[in-house]
Amino acid sequence: MKPLVDRFGRAITYLRVSVTDRCNHRCNYCSRPQEKHRERNQVLSFSELTEIITVMASMGVEKIRFTGGEPLVRKGIAELVGMVNAIEGIRETTLTTNATLLPRFARRLKEAGLKRVNISMDTLDAEKFRLITGGGRLSLALEGIEAALREGLVPVKLNTVVMRGINEDELAGIIDFASERGMGVRFIECMPMRDGFDWKRHYMPIQEVLEREDIKERVVVEERGEPGGAEHMLPLRSGRGRVGFISPLSNRFCERCNRLRLTADGRLHLCLPADMDVSLRDAIRGGADRQGLEALIRKATEMKPEAGVYTFSTEGRKKSMIHIGG
Ligand code: SAM
Repeated sequence: MKPLVDRFGRAITYLRVSVTDRCNHRCNYCSRPQEKHRERNQVLSFSELTEIITVMASMGVEKIRFTGGEPLVRKGIAELVGMVNAIEGIRETTLTTNATLLPRFARRLKEAGLKRVNISMDTLDAEKFRLITGGGRLSLALEGIEAALREGLVPVKLNTVVMRGINEDELAGIIDFASERGMGVRFIECMPMRDGFDWKRHYMPIQEVLEREDIKERVVVEERGEPGGAEHMLPLRSGRGRVGFISPLSNRFCERCNRLRLTADGRLHLCLPADMDVSLRDAIRGGADRQGLEALIRKATEMKPEAGVYTFSTEGRKKSMIHIGG
């Protein structure tokens, strides 16, 4: 079948699938404290999800990342991973999680064919962790990391959102923590994705991270870095791996964007900062067959903007990150 390519010649090979907009954390930059969730019947069923992924795989999507909300709170997540891995054309499934439920699910996910996990970890300080996540327990996340390593969901990568005044002094410690355990780290600029978060106060460009003495001691910042997908990879001075730097705001990578997002309620979300989407759920529930779905996905992909535009204001967003899936 004809590959899925947008107006700017970017082939779409990667789909991030939010399986729920529920989460057992309330991270300050991601979701409002009293976020409203979709009702169960608004959320895609496993058969609807696999139908959409099957159609997209036939158009060249080969990598799926499960996200949310917290993907591990979706009942039957390991079964879903198994179902998606069985779809022709899907070469890799991965998952982004806060890790707290991994002790319960890591083995089942591995058995279902999940390749690896990215784990969100912004601080190694239990009190700060509680504050950032709205009540989460660091010890549970640490147990989850151990479970992922034990079950071989590797390479485990930590995702750390850099926040001025909150965790900028901890980044070097997070590099050490990760490299001692054979994990990768990716530092991510905080994006204005949620109504009501004082984003301007906490935003810190990656360039400033690279200028910190404790980072320069550990990372070969002089290298220009390999432009990969969305991240710049720089080697550690110790020779024990690399660190990723993701700068969606200060150094965008839109020309290399190969991804689309599917929200839990079945909207194909075209570009992270843009509130632009098309409901595939409504199409399926309205009786669209595979051909109809394919046509709609192609039409939607045509609308993918050339570059993501951040408004730098979090006011009035229709969807917070928790609804889109990171
Ligand atoms: N609950 C899972 C987790 O904690 O990893 C998956 C969903 S979460 C929305 C996915 C990723 O998005 C996390 O790594 C989170 O840190 C990141 N994220 C959420 N809001 C963000 C923001 N405003 N800026 C940058 N990253 C953000």
